[in-house]
Order: sequence, then structure tokens, then C-alpha cells
Amino acid sequence: MEILTNRDEIRAWAVENRKAGHSIGFVPTMGALHAGHLELLRTSQTQTDRTVVSIFVNPSQFGPAEDFNRYPRVIEQDKHMLRQAGCHALFYPGVAAIYPQHFQTSVTVEPLGSDLCGRERPGHFQGVATVVTILLNLVRADQAFFGLKDYQQFVIIQRLAQDLNLESKIVGVPTIREPDGLAMSSRNRYLSQEDRQRAAAIHAALAAAKSAFTAGEKRSGRLEAIARRILTEASIHRIQYISVRSATTLLPINTVHTDGVILTAVKVGETRLIDNMLLNLPDQASPSS
Ligand code: AMP
Repeated sequence: MEILTNRDEIRAWAVENRKAGHSIGFVPTMGALHAGHLELLRTSQTQTDRTVVSIFVNPSQFGPAEDFNRYPRVIEQDKHMLRQAGCHALFYPGVAAIYPQHFQTSVTVEPLGSDLCGRERPGHFQGVATVVTILLNLVRADQAFFGLKDYQQFVIIQRLAQDLNLESKIVGVPTIREPDGLAMSSRNRYLSQEDRQRAAAIHAALAAAKSAFTAGEKRSGRLEAIARRILTEASIHRIQYISVRSATTLLPINTVHTDGVILTAVKVGETRLIDNMLLNLPDQASPSS
């Protein structure tokens, strides 16, 4: 596996591979890799000739009171996992390679970026949109793979890729879960044993809303109430939002007709967890495929 650490190296790698006639897949991550990330890699490997994974804990997407400093960094373990999985290249830049001196540009996707998670985390999606634009421009991959676990992020990146005419096709990959349903996340390791058990209620809550939807309940408010009750029964009281939205625009909808997604963000202990479920599609389907 080639390890690239600055803008020139990643550009050169991409140019060389394109010249050789290879299609390129790109999987951006913040590292502390788990089976969810590996699923993105695997999907890329099935659809493209050469995959590059990036690991960059992006400072500009963390708020001042957030976990940037304590975000897990386990680069040797990550490299090992990527090699085992047959990844072709790792882009592992330092902060100065992405944000050199005098850097002053940012990308905003509004109002989408101020809604839902953006309400609780002002500036977060601006940080995400900016770094993803830089990365997509560097790699110019044929396809770039993002987890549907971060559904709002996925919709924002699709929006920005269309709006800015970026070359890469943005592909959404279904969420990989623990056996009890908890969506895999690098932040799950922050959970105490007791909180870890309680966290399973997040998926249970979304699944209950989906069952009610499948059984005929189309009113967003009712579906949200069903999910909320399961969270509070599990003593998850700090619910930042639980909301049924259009799966394409993420705008609020009163009734779910053709496309709907239920999204939530909660705090379990001190850990903020997010999850979502597409209401009209089977769990393993991707809206972009
Ligand atoms: P992160 O390292 O948390 O920034 O995530 C990097 C990419 O992996 C993002 O596109 C995430 O949506 C995706 N991802 C994270 N967790 C999962 C999961 N459990 N299943 C599928 N994709 C995931």
C-alpha cells in the first residue's frame, strides 16, 4: 500500500493511475477504522480499479468544546487493517498539508448545513464541506464513497458535488451495525459498558418507527413519537432531535409519501450518537444505487 502525505503526492498518484487507465475510488475517513469504514473500502474495490482511503482528523469540523483532541488516533492499527483489506493507497496528510499558511477559503451548503446536526454543531458542516471539496479536487476519483450512517453529511456532499460540478460520483453505502443494532462508530469506544447497552435503543427506536410506517402509519409526528418513547424508556433523555424528513432534500414533511428518512441525534452519557433509517427502502439499500 502506498502512503501519500501531501497534496502533490496524492495528485501524482491519481494522475498516474488515470493515465494507466485505472478507474479510481476514494474513501475519506477520520481513521480509527472499523467494519463500517471497511465496507466503504470493499464497495469501492468492487466498483473501481484502484482505491485510495484518506485518514485526516479535520480540525475545522470540530467545535471548540468537542472531542478533536481526544478523537481516537490509531494510525498503525489503521494501516494494518487497510493493508489486510488490500487497499492500494492511503492518503495521510498532516494539518498543514490540507490547510497551508494563508488558507482562507470555506465551502458552505446552506440552509442544509444549519439544520439537524448543524443546529447542535454550528460550523461543523462548513468544515466537512470544505475538507471534502479539497479532497475530491485532489483525487478527482470516478466514485467517492460515503456512509449513509452520516445521512445529512451524505446529502450535503451530494448537493455540493452537483452544485460545484465536481467530477466524482457520490455513492452512499448502507450502515454497518453491531449485532444489537448499534451503528458502528469510532466514538462508540467512548461509551461505558452500561451506556453501550442503552445505546442499542437508538436502532430499536428507529426500527419501531419503520415498522409502524410499514404497517400503514404515514404521519411524521406519530412516527417520531413512537421512536421517542422507546428512547425515553431506555433512559435516553437527551434527545437533540428525532425527525422524519424527505430522504432527498431533508426538508420536514408532515406525511411520508414517496421518500422518507427518520433521523436522530442523542447523548448517551457524554457521547453524542447519531443514526437514521430510510423508511421506504430496505435497510441494505442505498438511495443512490
Ligand atoms: P468517519 O471516519 O467517522 O468520518 O467516517 C468516514 C466515513 O465512514 C463516512 O462516510 C461515514 O459515514 C462512514 N461510516 C462511519 N460509520 C459507518 C458505518 N457504521 N457504516 C457505514 N459507513 C460508516
